[in-house]
Amino acid sequence: MNLLEIKKYPQKLLRQNCDPVNKVTKQEARLLRQMLITMNYFKGIGLAAPQIGIPLRLIVADIGNGPIRLANPQTLKVSGREIKHEGCLSIPEAAVKIERPHKVTVKGINHKGKIIEIEADGLLARVLQHEIDHLSGRLIIDYMPFLPRIRFKLKRRFN
Ligand code: ZN
Repeated sequence: MNLLEIKKYPQKLLRQNCDPVNKVTKQEARLLRQMLITMNYFKGIGLAAPQIGIPLRLIVADIGNGPIRLANPQTLKVSGREIKHEGCLSIPEAAVKIERPHKVTVKGINHKGKIIEIEADGLLARVLQHEIDHLSGRLIIDYMPFLPRIRFKLKRRFN
């Protein structure tokens, strides 16, 4: 099975609003598996389909407790707040302090086509929110304060 290429900022593919999948068939399940392999290879803990150039609402995550594969993930509930640094395989040189809910309940369709709900806190909650952000084209740099964000973007344009 081939590794997939990870798209890097500022590629426009990363900014698109992704489409929901109609059904998780063998094809989507295969794609989710390839995404996991690619994520593990690059030592990531989460990956979203737009990061490999596919504008579909598919995400994977694994913080060491087993892989999560979700189509059409939706956040149902959030609670608490926590500020932590976050990185992204598509923006390797950035680490951004982001405030997010500490706990989330996410609903989606797994690789077998079954609707599931995942309750997560801490790191897994953060990864799931980060990947769900990708599906609407939202990136970690969007959370930077105004001036650092402008500086980051200018640097990327001129270097
Ligand atoms: Zn990311």
